[in-house]
Parts: sequence; structure tokens; C-alpha cells
Amino acid sequence: MAKGRIVIDSQRCKGCELCTTACPKDIIHMSETFNTRGYHPAVLVDPDGQCTGCALCAWMCPDAVITVYRYREAAASRRPLAVAST
Ligand code: SF4
Ligand code: SF4
Repeated sequence: MAKGRIVIDSQRCKGCELCTTACPKDIIHMSETFNTRGYHPAVLVDPDGQCTGCALCAWMCPDAVITVYRYREAAASRRPLAVAST
């Protein structure tokens, strides 16, 4: 079960790929489609719920377009506990 998840503002992403190198789970990939700025944006591909909410991707992003959510450890509802954004 995922401990976290991220939301990427794909329209502001410039496709630099730095977040893909930062993620220890290798679950951020580059989209094959373009955003309105003409870049291939990063996307989260996490079908197995591997995201830990570590926020390394958000810290690495030079444009601060990644928001990280961490889930409460024992919460059945899995409500987001905290939001980290650079
Ligand atoms: S929060 Fe951590 S595990 Fe989740 S996508 Fe970002 S770098 Fe990967
Ligand atoms: S580091 Fe930020 S700007 Fe670069 S690809 Fe990832 S989300 Fe996009």
C-alpha cells in the first residue's frame, strides 16, 4: 500500500527529467504527449503503490511543480497527512 503520492503540474513541467533520476522507486516517467509549452511532462506511474512520499522528486524539481502527499500510517481512510512542495 502506498505511503504517499505526488501530483505534478504537467502544464508547468519543462521536461528536464531531474525528478526521474531522483526517485528511488523509479516511478516517475516522461509522458509521450506534449504539454502546452511543448515539453514532454513527467508523470507518476505507480500501479503497485510504491511511492513512499519521500519528497526527493519535489526537492529536485527546479520549477517546484511537484506536490507530495503522505498518508497517515494507520488511518483506514488514508487521508493525506502533510503536503510538501518546494
Ligand atoms: S515522493 Fe519519493 S517515492 Fe514518491 S515519486 Fe517522489 S521520489 Fe518517488
Ligand atoms: S523535475 Fe520538475 S520540471 Fe523537471 S521533469 Fe520533473 S516535474 Fe518536470
